Amino acid sequence: MNNAVNPASGTPISACLRCGTCCEKGGPAFHLEDRLLIENGTIPSGCLYTIRKGELARDNVKQCLVPVDADIIKIKGKKGGWACMFFDDIRKSCTIYKNRPLECRALKCWDPRKLEKIYAANRLTRKDLISQVQGLWGLVEDHQARCDYVIIQRLVRDLDGGAAEPARRELSEIIRYDDEIRKLVVSRGGLEPDMLDFVFGRPLVVTIENYGIKARRLAAGWKGQSR
Ligand code: SF4
Repeated sequence: MNNAVNPASGTPISACLRCGTCCEKGGPAFHLEDRLLIENGTIPSGCLYTIRKGELARDNVKQCLVPVDADIIKIKGKKGGWACMFFDDIRKSCTIYKNRPLECRALKCWDPRKLEKIYAANRLTRKDLISQVQGLWGLVEDHQARCDYVIIQRLVRDLDGGAAEPARRELSEIIRYDDEIRKLVVSRGGLEPDMLDFVFGRPLVVTIENYGIKARRLAAGWKGQSR
């Protein structure tokens, strides 16, 4: 199958043109085969973020947001955008080419079959990487339970019903806890701030927007605000 077309000639392509389009669309998700790249520091943990189990993420096949059924660990985007942070947009090249993760090695835009085969298999999770870190893993599990996206989704639904006020309070408390735990592990635990999005996923104050909610900080704490 060949859907990719050379933008200059309009003809189908059968080799990488180094146009950079795939890297600009976002970094790869990690698989067990990539574990060593992270463990030996070739790709530092500070360059990663986690889409937590249950979080809404874009399904490129269904073209909509769907909850993920397990953690997905990805490379952060550049300056808040989607382009992979290891993509050199001047040279149109990968700055970690020899050590690029499995998905990047499998990706051929003119023939997606290899990527499709490995895409959902053997995904690397936070548990694989940090469950042995004493003290930290307990906090991660506690955070995952208290900030479970299943609970968040239910509360968001309740915001439109008769239990709106209790739901709003509970949601605000979850967002406040998510914010507090991040500050605490940095100030008291010595965790590098750039590790937070990997260890706890992206802040709820950001991801809650995928549920149509704006969270704004009030003097008294966090308050979820519907649409
Ligand atoms: S790791 Fe390299 S090849 Fe993979 S998306 Fe990033 S820049 Fe592209």
